[in-house]
Amino acid sequence: MSLLQTIFTGSKQAYDVAEIVVKSSIEELGRDCKVAFPDTAYSLPLYYASTGRRVSTLGELEEALETIKGFIVEKNLLANGLDAGYATALCAEVIEAVKYARNEDPYRDEPGYGFVSDAQIRSYGVGLVTQDIPGVAVLLGKAEDSESAAKIIKDYQAKGLLTYLVGDIIDQAIQHNVKMGNDLRVIPLGYDVTSVIHVVSIAIRAALIFGGIEPGKSKEFYKYTKERVKAFVNAFGPLSELVVSAGAGAIQLGFPVICDTVVPEVPTYLLSQRNHEKTVQTSLEARGIKIKVTEIPIPVSFAAAFEGERIRKDSMYAEFGGSKTKSWELVMTRDISEIEDHKIEVIGPDIDSFNKVPGRLPLSVIVEVAGKKMEEDFEPVLERRLHYFMNYIEGVMHVGQRNLTWIRIGKDAFEKGFRLRHIGEVIYAKMHDEFEAVVDKCQVTIITDEEKVKELEKKYALPKYEARDERLDALIDESVDTFYSCNLCQSFAPAHVCIITPERLGLCGAVSWLDAKATKELDEHGPCQPVLKEGLEDSFKGVWSEVNKVVEQISQGAVSRVTLYSLIEDPMTSCGCFECICGIMPEANGVVIVNREYGGMSPVGMTFGELAAMTGGGVQTPGFMGHGRHFISSKKFISAEGGVKRIVWMPKELKEFIAQRLNATVKELYNIENFTDMVCDETIAVDSEEVMNFLSEKGHPALNMDSIM
Ligand code: SF4
Ligand code: ZN
Repeated sequence: MSLLQTIFTGSKQAYDVAEIVVKSSIEELGRDCKVAFPDTAYSLPLYYASTGRRVSTLGELEEALETIKGFIVEKNLLANGLDAGYATALCAEVIEAVKYARNEDPYRDEPGYGFVSDAQIRSYGVGLVTQDIPGVAVLLGKAEDSESAAKIIKDYQAKGLLTYLVGDIIDQAIQHNVKMGNDLRVIPLGYDVTSVIHVVSIAIRAALIFGGIEPGKSKEFYKYTKERVKAFVNAFGPLSELVVSAGAGAIQLGFPVICDTVVPEVPTYLLSQRNHEKTVQTSLEARGIKIKVTEIPIPVSFAAAFEGERIRKDSMYAEFGGSKTKSWELVMTRDISEIEDHKIEVIGPDIDSFNKVPGRLPLSVIVEVAGKKMEEDFEPVLERRLHYFMNYIEGVMHVGQRNLTWIRIGKDAFEKGFRLRHIGEVIYAKMHDEFEAVVDKCQVTIITDEEKVKELEKKYALPKYEARDERLDALIDESVDTFYSCNLCQSFAPAHVCIITPERLGLCGAVSWLDAKATKELDEHGPCQPVLKEGLEDSFKGVWSEVNKVVEQISQGAVSRVTLYSLIEDPMTSCGCFECICGIMPEANGVVIVNREYGGMSPVGMTFGELAAMTGGGVQTPGFMGHGRHFISSKKFISAEGGVKRIVWMPKELKEFIAQRLNATVKELYNIENFTDMVCDETIAVDSEEVMNFLSEKGHPALNMDSIM
């Protein structure tokens, strides 16, 4: 059978199965039975992207199948083969949707995760744009020998790729102790081959969420995923017609398929690599993924994928800080003559001195750096990276910052020979690697001697922290003559640009004004560029002609005016990876803010996902705006609309997170005490009327302000 014929056969099989499950489910549950994937604003994302139509019942699903049938046209052209492959993907989506219609949580009893929520996809945003996540690997089938399969998975994990598993390879991974989970970047989707659709759905929603591509324009989706989503497929074991056909669907989206069996190769798209030792390399090359490796001399793995690894009590060997002992970390600038590059010193007992396990010690991690272009302002930027550097070590967990750090080292890591000096090796290597433009020399001192930890905290750490806080407090929009632009997210949201000011950090929450300034220093032509604060047009709304000019230029003409302090008039665009979204609640004459982690309903009748779907993609949506968590307590937060006292509702977790700073701002501006007590949350009310009752009971200031609209 020719390759094309195999694809058509597979598509028809998929179609037949989809038809049967839909028809029999209708017989059993009726045409009006609800169909929806959980936590998405995009209905059945593939079908929605292809047609612009939403499906919400089994009856509508049956109609959708008719449309999908039209994609399967048996002609002897590659384009028809790819369309048919995409139809297989659409059929798989239908089959998976029926699973969710029949059972709220069809993946409950297996290791697979099934459908991936919008919020989860948004949370990948920054990782993808910074290439911290360099690509997406989809592994499907069953490898002949499970050990080499596990090795391949671990290799992708160590390289930081998001790796999705479909089929029996999940069990093979479990058998060889691959660490799995969303946080560890190895995610089992499901045993059925149709569950592969849940990763295709991620690519399609990236185009909807970040790319702002209009549903119905299939070709634009294919172009987007091909150019921007660095995914590929590894198919293990013999291929059924169905899998070949699904593979054609992947190719339609620009994702190469690498098989470990003999297949009729299609250059750059369908490749055969029978040697598992070379699977990873062949795959990365086929998709053009380049991985930067930093060799670090430590006895355990080091990879961004281990960032989310938790060390639980029973697997813990050593612990520092976390209220049990003193633990702090500090990055300090030194004169180039004062320090010695790569000097790593451990003062006090190491972890092999314990006479019982787990052992606890106080800890200071002092990182001294020197360089001609190093500035004191960059110290906190470098210091914040320590959290990541330590977390990336397999078997080490790091939480917190400054003198509130909490570090655990696992038993496995200790047994492999990990000692405190290795923390120094990691920090040394990463400081040079990530900050080479400013760090010429780096010296790391790790102290566990109790007296010294105390003494040096007083001498160095506390005064430094205090000085930085003062600097940050004094750092307001009025006190600088330069803002920064960031266009990092353009790789996914081509028209988006953030303007970063001292009081308004990037909407992803990851780029403050100091970060942007350091980024510019590190990479002169990089994503962050200075914007002179010139041509003031309106200080109240935050309009500068120079800012407008830069935004117009960087957005390639898509956006020509932004205000920095208004939600309603020319608000800043949103790419999609925002930490929070703010929207008007007209009846309360105020705004609600919803954070990405909150899965419930908001008083405006929309979830985070639904609110977020209304903005994003680099377009301006007056009345809605994505922003970072820390912007909420700023005096500039929607100050054109009356500022922070417009906030009427936030999820409890966010409210508690921001309470101290927000209350201080409101107190200073309006002399109102404990403002957050007047702000409603989901534990008090979500229903609009009940929220209103709560606000009037508390005398919330928004109720007496000028109309927000
Ligand atoms: Fe993306 Fe804006 Fe964050 Fe830059 S600051 S990474 S453009 S969200
Ligand atoms: Zn973004």
